[in-house]
Amino acid sequence: MLRPLALALLLACAAAPEAQDRQILFPDVPGLHTMVVDLHTHTVFSDGDVWPTIRVQEARRDGLDALAITDHLELLKRAPDVPGLDRNRSAEIALEASANGVSPLLVIRGAEITREQPYGHANAVFIEDANALLLDSARDVFAEARRQGAFTFITHPAWTTQRKDAIARLTDEQRQLVADSLVQGIEVVNDQTYSDEALQLALDFGLAILGTSDLHGVADWTFHEASGGHRPVTLVLAPERSASGLRAGLDAGRTVALFKQTLIGRERDVLPLLWATLGIGRTFYNNGGISVLNVELVNRSTTPLLLENRSAYALHNGIGVITVPAEGSVVVRFKTLERVLSVPISFAVLNAVTAPGEHPVLSMEVGPGMNR
Ligand SMILES: [Zn+2]
Ligand SMILES: [Zn+2]
Repeated sequence: MLRPLALALLLACAAAPEAQDRQILFPDVPGLHTMVVDLHTHTVFSDGDVWPTIRVQEARRDGLDALAITDHLELLKRAPDVPGLDRNRSAEIALEASANGVSPLLVIRGAEITREQPYGHANAVFIEDANALLLDSARDVFAEARRQGAFTFITHPAWTTQRKDAIARLTDEQRQLVADSLVQGIEVVNDQTYSDEALQLALDFGLAILGTSDLHGVADWTFHEASGGHRPVTLVLAPERSASGLRAGLDAGRTVALFKQTLIGRERDVLPLLWATLGIGRTFYNNGGISVLNVELVNRSTTPLLLENRSAYALHNGIGVITVPAEGSVVVRFKTLERVLSVPISFAVLNAVTAPGEHPVLSMEVGPGMNR
């Protein structure tokens, strides 16, 4: 018969895999920490469907390092039931909830500036007082956010409510905000949408590349996390794993969006992340004079890597596209035609994008003479 403690342990073990499976994990890169953050979420204090404590619980389950609560300043859909007159209240409730948990989660104060075009929507995060952002002129709101020390980014620039053709463009007013350093980033990914044009705008205007959930409903029901899905997030390469480190990473534009298991960012940031994520395991020839080189590829992240063989050598056990499973490994067999100590191999990473239509390429030297 099981004693109560043993039974509790058994139940804990049984419950653990589900909670672990949905965590988003990437290794650190040399000299910088990889922080997983979602800088765009709503609660019942604007037009969301959940209380702020649920946002905190979801973020913990998803393995986030930081979560911003960014309720709309100008849209209080639940006003009859949740007046929301104090625009700081949703973040305060989330901050209290995050302080009580076992695992660390940074809650960042934010607000969504919610205007018609030409200003459209934008998120100010790392603000001090959302109530002070209730101003008539949109331009004044951006200036006040800046005065409070905010990091501000344009949200969903390809949103079909404000862009019927789903092509992201910057209005003259938005360009002026960028020129005046009142906007430092742009969402390339929002909820279920990705925009090539927004990525190009980020590259052209030197803006941080962001991916966010823009959650209004329940995370599980929106992104099917219990069955292998994930919310869009931003991976921030930060000098330290803290609020100020996160802010420094954002200010430096060291960001990579993760959307439907695809990395989207500047080559400068995507390459070190991929080099940290993809490892080479055992490399060997089988006995008997066979000249097929076995190379074990190791994935240190929770995102499967989709690689296209760009080496001079064809594969013996595949046609050209290789999946390295999340937190797993795969053995790729190259036909090197003779037994050599080392060979150059290279892969295009098909689920990483560094500019519209461009995949990064990883080239390396591998061989039985190079085993550590
Ligand atoms: Zn919005
Ligand atoms: Zn929003």
